[in-house]
Amino acid sequence: MAEKALDQLEKLRKRLDEINLEILELLSERGRIAQEIGKIKEKAGINRFDPVRERKMLDVLAEKNKGPFDNKTIQHIFKEIFKAHLELQEDDSRKALLVSRKRQKEDTVLKIKDVQIGGGDPVLIAGPCSVESYEQVKAVALNHKRQGLKLLRGGAFKPRTSPYDFQGLGIEGLKILRQIADEFDLVVISEIVKPEDIELATQYVDVIQIGARNMQNFELLKAAGSVDHPILLKRGLSATIQEFMYAAEYIMSRGNTKVMLCERGIRTFEKATRNTLDISAIPLLKQETHLPVLADVTHATGRLDLLLPTAKAALAAGADGVMVEVHPDPAVALSDANQQMNLGQFNDFYAELKASGLLSRQSKVSVS
Ligand code: PEP
Ligand code: MN
Repeated sequence: MAEKALDQLEKLRKRLDEINLEILELLSERGRIAQEIGKIKEKAGINRFDPVRERKMLDVLAEKNKGPFDNKTIQHIFKEIFKAHLELQEDDSRKALLVSRKRQKEDTVLKIKDVQIGGGDPVLIAGPCSVESYEQVKAVALNHKRQGLKLLRGGAFKPRTSPYDFQGLGIEGLKILRQIADEFDLVVISEIVKPEDIELATQYVDVIQIGARNMQNFELLKAAGSVDHPILLKRGLSATIQEFMYAAEYIMSRGNTKVMLCERGIRTFEKATRNTLDISAIPLLKQETHLPVLADVTHATGRLDLLLPTAKAALAAGADGVMVEVHPDPAVALSDANQQMNLGQFNDFYAELKASGLLSRQSKVSVS
């Protein structure tokens, strides 16, 4: 290339570099203004996305466009700019969510009696799918005592897919759980399905569970938010991470900060397992929120042979605990008969999980 052409090329490139910086400066300025607009809109309760205004801006740009880019290209570029700026505003609002890690850097640690959930050693929550009788729960509780376990689950109100299936013992079931908890010094967890039962449940259970089918039962979430009692919120069958976080936000926004999240598998096309355990949800929720994150591997897989590997995977991914179902005689269980471990299988499962070292995080010595 001739010297003159090279010289010219150099000059033009220099000018392009300058323009890039000018565009960057303008984009940043635009971004800051968009953030301010976002805040004003949030205060006024106005929707951030304004398609009418966006259409007007695109029309003005097309009108003023003198080339060399055609209108379609210009509009495409600006549409991307608008999108990025809208996302900036959304980021800002996520920052404001009470469940968000941006709002609270430290892990939320729930202290329930002498059990700690979150921030320390992972816990194991186990128990029958449904509370069926005092004797049935007692058999599991006795085994818990022998195994040194503290957290006992059991459903008293069962939201079943079929209306003809066992619906649970209701309040009787909660009373059985309380009696067992007091006799064996255990922490009991049970699902509540109606807003009006939340207050009552605080007398009987140590942790109130909100099940997958009720994750977006907003009145139930609001009721759970208005008591000062630990809540275990399960992910909805087809809920996105964002919907899950908003569900937890419903509880927290009413003043109850004692919330833990539970990944329990989501619905996918896969039929080999009951649901698909979304392992990536665990580190993602740990990153995005400060709440304890648990994994229910029984409802996620519905398969006894997958409980141990999925529990290990969940703990390796950072879960603060694992939930499983165990029944003294699964063959006669009134719900989820096929997916519950018997006591022997459960003890083997627990022994192997302990042996993996994944249940003790605090005591782990870091090797550099
Ligand atoms: C349960 O834990 O008893 C239960 C019904 O689970 P999920 O709501 O996750 O289906
Ligand atoms: Mn079950």
